[in-house]
Amino acid sequence: TSYVAKEDRYEQMPFRRCGKSGIKLPMISLGLWHNFGHDADFKNARTILRQAFDFGITHFDLANNYGPPYGSAEENFGRIMHKDFRPYRDELIISTKAGWDMWPGPYGNLGSRKYLIASLDQSLKRMGLDYVDIFYHHRPDPETPMEETMGALDHIVRQGKALYVGISQYNAEDTAKAYEMLKSLGTPLLIHQPRYSMLDRWVENGLLDVLGDKGVGSIAFSPLEQGILTNRYLSGIPADSRVAKDGRYLKQDQISQKVIDKVTALNEIAKKRGQTMAQMAISWLLKDPRITTVLVGVSRAEQLADNVKAVQNTSFSAGELAEIKAIIEA
Ligand code: NDP
Repeated sequence: TSYVAKEDRYEQMPFRRCGKSGIKLPMISLGLWHNFGHDADFKNARTILRQAFDFGITHFDLANNYGPPYGSAEENFGRIMHKDFRPYRDELIISTKAGWDMWPGPYGNLGSRKYLIASLDQSLKRMGLDYVDIFYHHRPDPETPMEETMGALDHIVRQGKALYVGISQYNAEDTAKAYEMLKSLGTPLLIHQPRYSMLDRWVENGLLDVLGDKGVGSIAFSPLEQGILTNRYLSGIPADSRVAKDGRYLKQDQISQKVIDKVTALNEIAKKRGQTMAQMAISWLLKDPRITTVLVGVSRAEQLADNVKAVQNTSFSAGELAEIKAIIEA
């Protein structure tokens, strides 16, 4: 059946400006790392994307190697773009990345100009797009001169294959360097994509300060710690969960009793706030205005419906913050 987006979609979702740029992003964005490859149910993937756009989520995040197999999330996204989202292309911010292993040999990984430019060309073909809105270098490459990687990002923008560029997983110091290099080339650094959640707070030690000072936006990935910061694992490991279905990145031994005790205690605070655990985990990130948007993954549309409600309450009392701090730092 053909898709017509909900008319009230922009009334539900607040947007934040991405650093000092012209772009605003929805406070919740959707990532296609899991649940969109050829291993996943296509109909379910399509339902999730339609639901997302109906909720006012205008930003979909991909990478060359999302799947499995590599490339298949982009292929499926391309099919859904074609079926459902063609009329809405100018309402969407679509991102992709290169930086991790993608094809065999020395030119299918890391940070060379050769890899980045070839990879984006492949991504555009798989998605059936003329350009992406944001192209990222997916992780730092200590062996390639940063001038080469940033030069490639600048070139890609000048070619019209991406409108903006970003970096992911770069530390504070390298982020400041990348920012200066891109600035001198005339292509501003739009956004940084770091991992950030209640259980992984490395960005608080310098990165967020750099982003705030320079006016670079940020998009926090794995905000729910791949599902740990939800009610998913509070009473065992469900058969349809990421841990049970796909042990590649989230492993059973990460669901330790210590972690579950923490989430159980956090969940009590969430209840008092009138939120679910997932909602509170997202709100807690959004309390910092330097976080432009929180990048969630979902395995079904109902989870997204839960998560988007987080935007309704993103402030915390000093008491709540202290209670949360005591739990997550214990
Ligand atoms: P999350 O931390 O949001 O974890 C998503 C998982 O949490 C879902 O698959 C689901 O697990 C569970 N979940 C989500 N919402 C709920 C809910 N309301 N109730 C219960 N369970 C819920 O993020 P991801 O780890 O998936 O990462 C999100 C995105 O970040 C990726 O898609 C990708 O775009 C980006 N990313 C970027 C990286 C980078 O290097 N730049 C690295 C990793 C991710 P289940 O499947 O068990 O239902």
